[in-house]
Amino acid sequence: MGDVLVLVDHAEGSVRKPTLELLTLARRLGQPVAVHLGPGAEAAAAVLGEYGAATVHAVDAPEFEQYHVVPKVDALEQIARQVEPAAILVPSSAEGKEIAARLALRLEAGLITDAVDVRAGDEGPVTTQSVFAAEWTTTSRVTKGTPVITVKPNAVAPEPAPTTASVVPATVSFSAAATGTKVTSRTPRATTGRPELTEAAIVVSGGRGVGGAENFALIEALADSLGAAVGASRAAVDAGWYPNSQQVGQTGKSVAPQLYVAVGISGAIQHRAGMQTSKTIVAVNKDEEAPIFELADFGVVGDLFQVVPQLTEEIKRR
Ligand code: FAD
Repeated sequence: MGDVLVLVDHAEGSVRKPTLELLTLARRLGQPVAVHLGPGAEAAAAVLGEYGAATVHAVDAPEFEQYHVVPKVDALEQIARQVEPAAILVPSSAEGKEIAARLALRLEAGLITDAVDVRAGDEGPVTTQSVFAAEWTTTSRVTKGTPVITVKPNAVAPEPAPTTASVVPATVSFSAAATGTKVTSRTPRATTGRPELTEAAIVVSGGRGVGGAENFALIEALADSLGAAVGASRAAVDAGWYPNSQQVGQTGKSVAPQLYVAVGISGAIQHRAGMQTSKTIVAVNKDEEAPIFELADFGVVGDLFQVVPQLTEEIKRR
């Protein structure tokens, strides 16, 4: 089995959970080899080694400080040409997908995006994708070049496989395009203290049934009792009750947590497209005919204004 390159997703000095998921999947395909771009590789190596990466190729350069994808593509391409991996795994974030697409083009290789599972096959990695508003599941395989695969968060639970990671500093040359633009200002997002929506193990989402922005406090209280992220249907977002960044669905974010709680959400196909692959789905809806119940593993038919506070209290009590 060959090396499998994993692009490390890190922020503020911490390796993010999707990277640990990629390392877990990479071990099914071969030997995981991490690529860490930007500062902090030495500190990250301890975590990367914990999840099976014996080698961490590290590049730090001022070019990465501008948050551009091109320097990352330059670095990843040069490391990939040197390592000649069996596959390259990249997180399915907006940035990850852009990096993967540019990388595949440069390597003249096939690209698969938004995989929800990856396993070894006789002729290379076989991926599972959820397509057409999650109505269909497809399995795919790259037939040309080194497979470049982006994997959605929560595709797999990270499993440790401790080894000692050695950091291999790499020197790369940057293309002219890497410095073609400049970031002139940055506005950090206000932090809620809750997990990131696409990475959270538990998501509690509210819909039109919540009835107003002020009532989202109920959804947030339930989410906080579970350590969950808060999501919203498009109806709730369009009404201005919750930020656009938290919309779940076809035109919002895709989530696949261990537990998804849909509160006052009917279960329209466009909403299902973003949460259908959640491991366990719980719905609270006063209409027993609501389509969300076709999908739910557990359902409560009732008024959310009674059910949600009781549920929150009960969870806090335990
Ligand atoms: P409704 O469908 O109005 O459902 C509200 C539910 O709340 C009902 O089932 C009702 O019984 C229940 N309810 C009401 N009061 C209570 C109460 N007191 N207690 C308990 N239950 C109560 N939608 C998305 O969510 N995400 C997307 O990304 C998205 N993309 C779209 C893209 C396109 C191109 C289109 C055309 C539509 C898209 N939509 C999307 C919209 C989608 O079709 C639905 O309109 C939307 O999901 C409905 O949101 P909802 O379930 O919150 O509202």
